[in-house]
Amino acid sequence: MFTCFYPDHYVASIYDIPYEELWRKGVRGLFFDIDNTMAPYDLPRPDASAIRLFQELTKMQFKICIMSNGKKARVALFNENLKVPAVHRAGKPFGYNLRKSLKTMGLKPGQAAMIGDQVFTDVWAGNRMGMVSILVSPISEKDEWITKIKRGAEKIVLRRYRQLNPSSEHTTQKKK
Ligand SMILES: [Mg+2]
Repeated sequence: MFTCFYPDHYVASIYDIPYEELWRKGVRGLFFDIDNTMAPYDLPRPDASAIRLFQELTKMQFKICIMSNGKKARVALFNENLKVPAVHRAGKPFGYNLRKSLKTMGLKPGQAAMIGDQVFTDVWAGNRMGMVSILVSPISEKDEWITKIKRGAEKIVLRRYRQLNPSSEHTTQKKK
């Protein structure tokens, strides 16, 4: 039950993702959600640590892409200092834009990871594409109204996920 919503990794934040392990397993592309994954949704720009992380990941040779369902202006301003390929109104959980970006990056779905804070958006998108799915705990409790509605159902899925993966939260666990 719910397996399409279970992440491959469930970690506290984007700073707790085992990037080296992903690289060893052949992951070369990283898709990042913005809101509540990289920054609270009301923060217009990435902070210094997020910028540093992207620099380090780029140095590691990862191809990075922002994949956000947010508006064009939000994504453009957020990406101003990061300067990575970015897709707004991405339509997650649907795979159209992920598929398109993978093609541009020259990667197969299994060589990429979708990183985000929402089960029904980011994790589902990654899983249905055959990508590695990585769930991070939302940065802030503040959500947009549409997200607030989804969080209730998300709790049910994550409760079940934790039963199956008792030490899952804030550690890395492979999906069963
Ligand atoms: Mg989000």
